[in-house]
Amino acid sequence: MPKVNVRDNRVVNFSYWELKSFLAPADVIIVGGGIVGLSSAIFIKKRWPRRRVVVLERGVLPSGASTKNAGFACFGSAGEVLDDLTRMDEETVLSTIRLRWEGLQLLRGLIGDTCLDYKALGGYEVFQDRMAAETCLDALPYLNDLMREVTGNRVTYLKQPGVGAKMGFWGVGMVIKNRYEGQLDTGLMMNAFIHMAQGLGVQLLNGVVVDAILDLGSRVDLNTNVGCFSSKRVVVATNGFAAQLLNLKTVQPARAQVLVTEPIKGLKLKGAFHFDQGYYYFRNIDGRVLLGGGRNLDFKGETTYSMETTLPIQKALDKLLKGVIVPYAKVKVAHRWAGIMGVGPEKKPIVEPVSANVIAAVRMGGMGVAIGSRVGQIVARLVGE
Ligand SMILES: Cc1cc2nc3c(=O)[nH]c(=O)nc-3n(C[C@H](O)[C@H](O)[C@H](O)COP(=O)(O)OP(=O)(O)OC[C@H]3O[C@@H](n4cnc5c(N)ncnc54)[C@H](O)[C@@H]3O)c2cc1C
Repeated sequence: MPKVNVRDNRVVNFSYWELKSFLAPADVIIVGGGIVGLSSAIFIKKRWPRRRVVVLERGVLPSGASTKNAGFACFGSAGEVLDDLTRMDEETVLSTIRLRWEGLQLLRGLIGDTCLDYKALGGYEVFQDRMAAETCLDALPYLNDLMREVTGNRVTYLKQPGVGAKMGFWGVGMVIKNRYEGQLDTGLMMNAFIHMAQGLGVQLLNGVVVDAILDLGSRVDLNTNVGCFSSKRVVVATNGFAAQLLNLKTVQPARAQVLVTEPIKGLKLKGAFHFDQGYYYFRNIDGRVLLGGGRNLDFKGETTYSMETTLPIQKALDKLLKGVIVPYAKVKVAHRWAGIMGVGPEKKPIVEPVSANVIAAVRMGGMGVAIGSRVGQIVARLVGE
């Protein structure tokens, strides 16, 4: 018999061939096949091509945030950075912005702009509230100086008073642009990650739900719905679901709801927009509007692992869509969905060992598209230590 990875063969009666070719013992098992899990696998394989790396994903597709998100390639709007500075010191805020900036460059270099359908259209922050707009405008010289340390560019944020009217918005005052943000196609990105991981020899196993992880010192055992897997090292990249597997009280699930419209004739919207302190976000995609947010309407209810959409939040999205974003056109919503983010008291990811052979790489907040690849690179370094 081949040396097998799935040691308890009672749950699924695997064949000799399955045990030999698909389920052999692993050097690294990664739990979670989202951006972080797949980038970690890719960077580990790039560094150690001979190591056996396995990704266990419970969904048919990645089923958390990575295939559900809005595809904003963003690293901080002016209002967001100012708000972060009220709760965290400058160096902490800058370190997360740096991660996001570096992550975006890494992602674009790894996958390529064409494969991501990356569009450097800029990121915009839309203000209805005059006071909030003025506070941000007053702070722009300071914020541009701060950002210069990250991007190396003198001007990141620009006042764009005419943009609201140009885009056809109703009742919008000031708009501030982040010149270096963009947007991408989330589905293309995840497909590219999966192909790249498989091309490097990473074994992707879907439909495997990890129930428990046991670090035994010489190996780590993982109990799953199909039997017990073993590996030398384990990376937990389950983001918002982290507390289900690890004793991490500082990660909570945060549902985020989205809708996408049917194609809109004469759509004026172009770019990635943040609205109401970032609680809402919208962009153009394939002649449609993609709009998400509204978590602030029910923080308690949205602290959930459930992927269902809810009527009050979807109604608020409809109102914003028809009343502010495309008041000039007839719009029909084509589809609605939700994803689960991982958030916590601090706006920064947790990337650290949680026992001798287990590393956590979780809590990506609403920033994972940007930071995910960089986190994967850090994980690869930690696995090697
Ligand atoms: C609606 C929405 C919009 C967003 N928009 C943006 C955006 O525009 N820009 C941006 O930067 N970020 C955005 N985000 C956040 C971003 O998508 C996430 O930060 C990022 O995808 C996190 O990646 P991840 O790999 O850490 O986690 P996930 O993608 O959540 O992956 C974790 C995986 O672990 C799997 N898993 C969990 N438990 C187990 C288990 N026990 N056994 C096996 N597998 C398990 C899950 O099925 C899941 O696939 C958005 C998120 C949502 C939900």
